[in-house]
Order: sequence, then structure tokens, then C-alpha cells
Amino acid sequence: MESCIVEHMFDVAELAAVDPHADQAALIEQIAWLERVKSAASAGQARAAAALDAKRRAAEAAAGVPTAKQGRAVAGEVALARRDSPARGGRHLGLAKALVHEMPHTLAALQCGALSEWRATLIARESACLDVQDRRRLDAELCASVGQLEGMGDARIVAAATEIAARLDAQAVVDRAAKAEADRTVTIRPAPDCMTYVTVLLPVAHGVGVYAALTRSADTTFDDRSRRQVMADTLVQRVTGRPADACAPVALNLVMSDQALWGQDTAPAVLDGYGPIPASLAQRLVRDAVVDARSVATLRRLYRDPTSGSLVAMESRSRVFPKGLAGFIGVRDRTCRTPYCDAPIRHRDHATPRNRGGPTSAANGLGECERCNYTKEAPGWRVTTGDQNGVHTADFVTPTGARYRSTAPPLPGAPLVAISEVEIRIGVALADLHAA
Ligand SMILES: [Zn+2]
Repeated sequence: MESCIVEHMFDVAELAAVDPHADQAALIEQIAWLERVKSAASAGQARAAAALDAKRRAAEAAAGVPTAKQGRAVAGEVALARRDSPARGGRHLGLAKALVHEMPHTLAALQCGALSEWRATLIARESACLDVQDRRRLDAELCASVGQLEGMGDARIVAAATEIAARLDAQAVVDRAAKAEADRTVTIRPAPDCMTYVTVLLPVAHGVGVYAALTRSADTTFDDRSRRQVMADTLVQRVTGRPADACAPVALNLVMSDQALWGQDTAPAVLDGYGPIPASLAQRLVRDAVVDARSVATLRRLYRDPTSGSLVAMESRSRVFPKGLAGFIGVRDRTCRTPYCDAPIRHRDHATPRNRGGPTSAANGLGECERCNYTKEAPGWRVTTGDQNGVHTADFVTPTGARYRSTAPPLPGAPLVAISEVEIRIGVALADLHAA
């Protein structure tokens, strides 16, 4: 049904076809034309998203849903339809509503290709602190004549929008800066080669202060390390309270096959909060924890099905997910199970709610981030779990009837060989070793 509508409107394959005999000028023209197509498609997505939001709110208002709860899951639906994370779904929907309801010139500039979706997002972001009248003024001043957008990169777009916003309402811009402090946070994401980025978003004074303190320690340390290495090591030492080379952080959870643990197999391990790491690095983390008197390494056996390679289920009758079962779901799902989300797990939730007879079990349990757990409670959402050749599945059905499937990620180790998993908790009690 969905694909039929799209096919009637457009031949996607024709759009992607390139004439092998085209000359160079024609090729560059095609690249430019396709870029305009992408911008126009973004404008169409914005109109469709804003219309969906309006229709959903009207339908929910008619059904008696309180105003504050109307349309609360539309961003999640937009994200799934665009194969994007829920966080970006929220951004797309916010942009759509701003463009359609408040910024007609920016929308027109997007449609004709004068702006990319990202540059339209930047203008919407910089104008978000203004009231509707001022936002319309900014929209007209910056985008009514698309010729002046010619040649403007991301930074110039932001500078132009900020300058206009500050001229129209300086106080709003100042207030927004003050409010932004509330968004200070620390995040982590994987970097290539078994490295990781820990990012801290701070008010400017604190950020500059942290950087100055690290620079100072580099200025007063003289050994064979580079300045940048000293700064990184100092950061680890001051935050964790132990030297960077002690390599035994608080509760580092590793999942690896027992063969890999004993060095008989090279299947990668999975480090909680990071992802796969080579077996040799996992072995070193374990070895360092074992020889370090301040750390405790405990082993917990996690058995898995020798055929499918998935974890063996555990049952429980309690309403809140018991600790063992929650840990099990965390190991199985690794990140939020909503398709394209990948955020860290914050909730172990019942797919079929407890009040509709959903059991507290590994099969009915689902690792979810906070946002997705909230989204799937909205009217019209349904999540059902199942089993596909021994692999845990979750089907998400949204209010429009669109269906998306999520499967649990594979466990480390060759699925057909290993029959048990070992979880090493570094820095927690030793008792689990005997319980295993
Ligand atoms: Zn999520």
C-alpha cells in the first residue's frame, strides 16, 4: 500500500539512474539537480509531518485525550518512518511545525533548493527563542529573497540568523543562553580503534576552566608523554580518583565467551556502554582487574542456546523486573530496542503491559531508553515480542498501522560453538563467582 502510493508519484529507480555516456558538465548538473530534489523532498516531509501532527492532535482531542498529552508520540513515528533516531525525529517534527506554521519563506527556500534541510534546521534553531511575530520577521529578512542565501555556509547562516534574532529581541537571546545552562551534560560515544569520546557540555566559564586546568598540568609535567597525553591522563585521574594507567574503572561490564576469556578463542567481547572490543583487549582488562588489589573481578555465567546463540530465558512473577532479569535483558538488548534508536537502556519494560496480562519475563521484557519507553505508552502504539529462529524480536506497531521490527543483537562468540557466556564485573562483590 505504502510503496504503491510512492510508485504512482515517482519512479525512484529513474531518479537514481545515471547515463553512462553523459559528459562531465551533464554529470555535475545531475549532482546539483539531485541536491535540489533532496531539499524539495525535505520540504515535502516537513509538510507531511506537520499535517500528521495536526490530524493526530485533532483526533486525540476528539477522543478526550488531555491537551498536554496530545500528539506526544508523533516525533517517534516520524523517526521510524525516516529510519532515524527518536531524538532526531523530535528535531525533524519541530522543524516541520516551525516551517509550516511560522516560517513560510524558509520553507520556500528549502523547497527550491536554496537551503538544505540542515541549514533550514539551523535557522529554525537560532530563531526558536523569539516570539511568533519576531520569528516571522527573521524568516522574511533572511529568506524572502533566496538570492542572498547564495554562497552562505553553515557558519554564515547561523551568524546571520543570530544577528537578526539579537537585533529583534536581545533579551530573548540572553534568556536562552541562561536557560541553556540547564542542558549541561556528559555523554559517551564510540570512537574508532577501541577509543571513546566522552563529551561534556558545560557553561562557557566552566568549560574554559576545565581546559585551563588540564593545560596547566601539562605545562608542569615533564616525562615522555606528549602534552595531549598528559591532559587526557590528568582528566582520567581527577575524575576517577586513580591514575590513568591503573586501568580498573568502577564496574566495567564485559560479556565474552568463556573460550575467549581463557584465551582459546578470538571472538570479540562486548563492553557495556561501548560495543564490541577485541578479545585480547578484553583479556587484558580482566587480567589487570585480577592483579589489582583494589579491584575485584567476578564471573557470572550466562548460558545461551547452542543453536540460535541467544541467551536462555529466565522467568519471574514480580512486577518490577528483578535484578537478575534486568541484568539479563541489559546483556541481551545492549541498547534501546526501538529501531534506529541505539540510546543507552534506562528502563527494562514490559512489552505487553502488566495490566493487560503481560508476564514479567525475559521474552516479554524490553530494554528501552527513557524517551522510547514514554513514546510507546501513547495511544495507538503496540509492541509485541516474539522469537525468530531463537532470536528475540520486538514488533512496534504505530497508530497509523505502520510496523517496524527490532531483533536482539548477536552475542559475542561463534553462535554454533560456544555454549556459555561469562560476565566479568570489575569492582563489585565476589559472591557471584560461587553462585554461578
Ligand atoms: Zn530509545
